[in-house]
Amino acid sequence: MAKTDPVIIVMEDDPSIRRFLRTSLSTYGFNVFEAGTGKQGLVELGVRKPDLLILDLGLPDMDGVDVIRAIRAWSVVPIVILSARSGEQQKIEALDAGADDYLTKPFGFGELLARIRVALRHAARPAESGQDNVFMTANLKVDLDNRVVSVDDREVHLTPIQYRLLAVLVKHAGKVLTHQQILNEVWGPSFRENAHYLRIYMSQLRQKLEADPTQPKLLLTESGVGYRLKAW
Ligand code: CA
Repeated sequence: MAKTDPVIIVMEDDPSIRRFLRTSLSTYGFNVFEAGTGKQGLVELGVRKPDLLILDLGLPDMDGVDVIRAIRAWSVVPIVILSARSGEQQKIEALDAGADDYLTKPFGFGELLARIRVALRHAARPAESGQDNVFMTANLKVDLDNRVVSVDDREVHLTPIQYRLLAVLVKHAGKVLTHQQILNEVWGPSFRENAHYLRIYMSQLRQKLEADPTQPKLLLTESGVGYRLKAW
């Protein structure tokens, strides 16, 4: 079977980081192309049709969030942000604009690889295909067809909203979801301000699914930004 290496574009104005990423990602079988500006990156994106984009938010000619919005107008390519900006508001802005994940510099290469794999896996999964609808991570198993949740093979009873919250996290497993995105998907657009609902239900889910709800291993908090269901 002919298999082409996944193509990644690195949009980053720091040449030393670009070179590091190209060299390291190449050894893991990725075909890496570089762009030093937003404009060049958008052109590369159209030409190379990459499987994934690594994006620095601080580009010389364009703001990274504007780059995300421009891309999302016509492309669903997974976007992993790699940025020195560590403020919560900036992460939220980038994720709400359509980025898939966010890593703050300085970053660990192992962690970047893990995030890339998750983003690629998501992109490859055909939406609602009806097959392989069982999600497993660590000791948690979610059978989405039959709505059965179990921990260590013991069935756990969830209320409808607890289940819906878990199903949204499963659908985006491994990715950071902002509070807004979760509220929107679970409760609908009119509940966007009701962040306390989310806190309450997340805590209930942790009580039911985590061995130690005060030290969550599955339902992770992304401080000030949102939540992530651990998927690796
Ligand atoms: Ca930069």
